[in-house]
Amino acid sequence: MTSKIAIIGGGWYGCHVATSLAALGFEVRLFEQHNRLLHEASGNNQFRLHLGFHYARHHGTRIQSRDGYSRFMERYSGLSREIAENIYAVPHEDSLIDWQTYKLVMTSTGLNYREVSPTAAGLTRMDGVMMVDERVLLIERSRNYFKALLGDSLSLGTRVDSVMDHGTYVEVDGEKYDFVVDATWGHHKKLPIKTFYEPTLLLYYEGDVNLPAITMVDGPLCSVYPTEDPNIYTLSSVPHTPLGTCETAQEARQRRDEVNGELVRAKVDLMETQVSKYLPDFKSRYKFMGPQLAIKTKPVGAFDDRSCGVYRDGRIFNVMSGKIDTIFVASERIISFIQSFSTQQAEDDFSTLKQNILSLKV
Ligand SMILES: Cc1cc2nc3c(=O)[nH]c(=O)nc-3n(C[C@H](O)[C@H](O)[C@H](O)COP(=O)(O)OP(=O)(O)OC[C@H]3O[C@@H](n4cnc5c(N)ncnc54)[C@H](O)[C@@H]3O)c2cc1C
Repeated sequence: MTSKIAIIGGGWYGCHVATSLAALGFEVRLFEQHNRLLHEASGNNQFRLHLGFHYARHHGTRIQSRDGYSRFMERYSGLSREIAENIYAVPHEDSLIDWQTYKLVMTSTGLNYREVSPTAAGLTRMDGVMMVDERVLLIERSRNYFKALLGDSLSLGTRVDSVMDHGTYVEVDGEKYDFVVDATWGHHKKLPIKTFYEPTLLLYYEGDVNLPAITMVDGPLCSVYPTEDPNIYTLSSVPHTPLGTCETAQEARQRRDEVNGELVRAKVDLMETQVSKYLPDFKSRYKFMGPQLAIKTKPVGAFDDRSCGVYRDGRIFNVMSGKIDTIFVASERIISFIQSFSTQQAEDDFSTLKQNILSLKV
């Protein structure tokens, strides 16, 4: 019998898990509270298809990104585009690790890069600069792609309120399913690991087509990255993008929704000052357009861990998202959890047979 699976959340994780399970023959239903897919964090981020260069200080995240990038390219090559010049730069005063160590970490991870001049793209104060192959995600195209693929299995504008595990099935707002995937990044129900919610603010800028992507690493630095629109870029800053640390998702949403013009102007000032230190002609190249607001769910801990994990609670699978390139980790774990139920079922059938044989009186 085909398993019936409910997926809550139409971000990158929910869309990928739902389409992967449907492709394997499962009957799926994806619930998204908004009227379009990729409306929350998945549609409001820096749109970087990571390869691992961002995570010099976390091995697990780097490996997941390196492998996830290749799998993403195999499966969704049309949902990202290349960037003519994609630069990672290590400032010689402010980076937490030096250029030689950074290169060593990336080389030992098996990542390819090309070393270029420390003054490439008008940068100053750099210890070293490299050119990499990370790409930019195409969000509108991804929305349309998943919407078409999911078709009638999609319930947009439908918020899930109640999920109850009855042991042999799960009820989602009164309807029976075999399994449920909570892909809300801890918004429907808090994840079973220690996490906090971080409202975030990035800034959108307009600039000429094909300006380079520039990412300063490693530590409390900043980056300018292109978007799917060839004239629009995001500016992100490790110290200035977070808007606080919240215990609950509700508190984070409230903090995000309270952002006003005064705060945005203050952030513009701080972030432009920071980036101009390394890219002195930033203000003449880019014109501020507006803010981008979102919420990140992060694990508690001092490490730079952005890896993906899935936690099973009976028939409910809770996804702790990593980056977008790590969606494959989630789908594989969910499939193996479902398989483990079939194995258990087979064992139960076997033990019934055994009991039948042993109960025969001959
Ligand atoms: C500022 C910022 C920059 C980032 N930059 C990058 C980057 O450059 N590259 C990268 O790979 N990653 C980046 N990330 C991380 C990336 O955005 C996330 O890993 C990814 O979007 C998580 O996807 P998701 O599907 O788990 O969550 P989401 O996209 O948040 O999706 C969850 C969905 O669940 C829905 N939902 C919640 N509750 C309910 C309910 N009760 N019923 C129905 N629907 C519900 C929400 O509406 C939402 O659509 C960034 C994140 C932020 C915030």
